[in-house]
Amino acid sequence: MAPSVEAVQAAGNVPATSSGFPTTLTPLDASRLVHTYTQSPRPVPEEATANASDESTCTDHMICATWKSGQGWSPPELKPYGPLELMPTASCLHYATECFEGMKVYRGYDGKLRVFRPNLNTARFLLSAQRISLPSFDPDEFEKLILKLIAVDGPRWLPKERAGSFLYIRPAMIGTQAHIGARGSNQALLFIVMSFMPQMHLMPGGMRLVTSEDKVRAWAGGFGYAKIGANYGPTVVVLKEALERGYNQVLWLYGPDGECTEAGGSNFFVVWKRRNGQTEIITAPLDDKIILNGVTRRSCIELAKKRLEHDVVVSERKFTIQEVMEAASEGRLVESFSTGTAVSLLPTQLIG
Ligand SMILES: *Cc1c(COP(=O)(O)O)cnc(C)c1O
Repeated sequence: MAPSVEAVQAAGNVPATSSGFPTTLTPLDASRLVHTYTQSPRPVPEEATANASDESTCTDHMICATWKSGQGWSPPELKPYGPLELMPTASCLHYATECFEGMKVYRGYDGKLRVFRPNLNTARFLLSAQRISLPSFDPDEFEKLILKLIAVDGPRWLPKERAGSFLYIRPAMIGTQAHIGARGSNQALLFIVMSFMPQMHLMPGGMRLVTSEDKVRAWAGGFGYAKIGANYGPTVVVLKEALERGYNQVLWLYGPDGECTEAGGSNFFVVWKRRNGQTEIITAPLDDKIILNGVTRRSCIELAKKRLEHDVVVSERKFTIQEVMEAASEGRLVESFSTGTAVSLLPTQLIG
């Protein structure tokens, strides 16, 4: 008697990704999910208490599936949330053979549980896995697994009284082959957990961004477009310095002209008036694969094109910090904001 979860899908132009893996191997198959329920369900904490902890508070269960080269996927297992067992030589621990996703399940005011455009996340997860040489899978099966975890833990961990709240869903895949050698891992583990997360869009006054100066998050020919762990660990030292200087996030610039790319782990938009008076919403393009193809970014672009088509031009192209400064000094800068699942849509207070 699984409670229903509504998947609000993105239409059109979702990258076709379900091809490209050998069909002779056992595919990831959500219908083979084995359920092992916890014997000791934990009390569901208040959101504030859960978010105040040093450790992410996760729900009672997680879903795991293992993959072996030459065999394919094990039947996935839903089991009590808990530690993973890994050899110290596991590939992911040395060479960052890891990718992840981030999405939310929301409790609607109508009582329904909803996930937003999960087909875009599952397609992106496959793209990230392929970039880091982790195994492929059918994104639709992967989505079914996410919905099954929500169906088990959603009703109790996101109760109807918490309308408007959400849980954060974190799927990840790691290379687990116990072998010291920087090569493709012949074993992998896929897992999905759900945790509490603060409502970051409530940051009063908006984000204080500082430009990255000589540091770079991602580069042409690199992997900034993939959600792989290797993109994030090395940015922490830059963020730390920004926080010490009183900022909230880093505005990542790229290239000699200081192209604006992303704000922390969020996409970045500027709204300005062109010199001809036309209002433009502008964000960095996807084609050089430096920025992440955010679901929130795409949704904002689609909404703006649809709802504001007579008032604004929506542009996905390169723009520089110099242009932003010029617009500001000429009184043409209207606003700026960051988008992402974690922050939703967060206005910029200042750029330093
Ligand atoms: C996850 C992420 C985003 C936001 O993507 P959404 O799909 O909107 O959550 C933006 N930039 C980076 C670098 C990210 O990792």
